[in-house]
Amino acid sequence: MESANPSDPVPQELDPEQAARWLDLEPTPRLIDVREVEELHSGVVSGAIHIPLREIPSIVSPGTHPHLSAPISSEENILIYCAKGIRSYDAMHWLRQQGYHRCASLRGGIEAWRSAHLPLAAGPGSDHLDADDLQRYARHLTIPEVGEEGQSKLLAGRVLVVGGGGLGSPAALYLAAAGVGHITIADDDVVELSNLQRQVLYRTDEIGHSKAKVAAKTLSALNPSIEISAFPYRVTAANAPELIRDHHVVLDGADNFETRFLINDLCVEQQVPVVHGSVYRFEGQLTVFDPARGGPCLRCLHPEPPAEGSCASCAEAGVLGVMPGIIGTIQAAETIKILLGQGESMSGRLLLIDAMKGSFRQIQIPRRPDCILCGQYQ
Ligand SMILES: [Zn+2]
Repeated sequence: MESANPSDPVPQELDPEQAARWLDLEPTPRLIDVREVEELHSGVVSGAIHIPLREIPSIVSPGTHPHLSAPISSEENILIYCAKGIRSYDAMHWLRQQGYHRCASLRGGIEAWRSAHLPLAAGPGSDHLDADDLQRYARHLTIPEVGEEGQSKLLAGRVLVVGGGGLGSPAALYLAAAGVGHITIADDDVVELSNLQRQVLYRTDEIGHSKAKVAAKTLSALNPSIEISAFPYRVTAANAPELIRDHHVVLDGADNFETRFLINDLCVEQQVPVVHGSVYRFEGQLTVFDPARGGPCLRCLHPEPPAEGSCASCAEAGVLGVMPGIIGTIQAAETIKILLGQGESMSGRLLLIDAMKGSFRQIQIPRRPDCILCGQYQ
């Protein structure tokens, strides 16, 4: 085992791979998880001490934090992590101001750690699969890339489905069936007769009812062991930041550009990947926007929303009912891959499906270094 050289300066942030190598050094750096206790069930880095961000000041006080066996010296190597690397950066910054100059933050947090396929230990509250789960998810458990560990990740996953329409319907059904542990459906519409040609979450006798509420009921009936939240309101600049904050992935099935750009902009800021899908007559498109992991965002493709009235909506242009079924289902697959930390993401690639031609093709969509939005976070 290599030794840490105490005279080497410690960078403020370490990538997951750098952090993993650093944790292998002797003496082992202190590892601090600054998330809230309810976030730990999604897994922890082995050996981490749990001290929520607000309690960080207590580690420099003489009494020390109850989770610490001894006070931390300002000369020790300390690695701090949270979910995405934002809170841990604040903690690192504050500790450095207190003289803890060998303190680093894990860039991208535990989500980046997971994406880099580095090992996670079970956190407190991560329940093992019960007998029903073992049967319900039996066909997942035999897939090497899922297994019990992957299924536990899905059960700890939190997905926001924006729009319970043509795309959101099949996506939410498959996510619920797959055992994604928390699904929020945001839609302020009520079920209409003209929806039923493609929005497979709803039945004729549900016309006139809130889509979000009907969806929650149907999804709960499909899988009673997961939590479904209905958000029967319009997604606006006022409510979206809070709505997104709680989720690991946003599945964009919105029916208007205003919402899509709003979701994109907030997800870039909050480093939440967006699984994007859209349909038009016999055609569909799909990609993943994930600038936090190097991919483009919606504004890399279209810097501004198209002028109002320049693009036909579903209502005006029409759509073959099965198209949102195809695209929404692939959106569910991409979402599951992100939660599992498996496979090759569609980030940076746009899938174009033309059902009339029977063609599936994809084009590369690079990140624009001068993107008016994600450019500033590079
Ligand atoms: Zn961008």
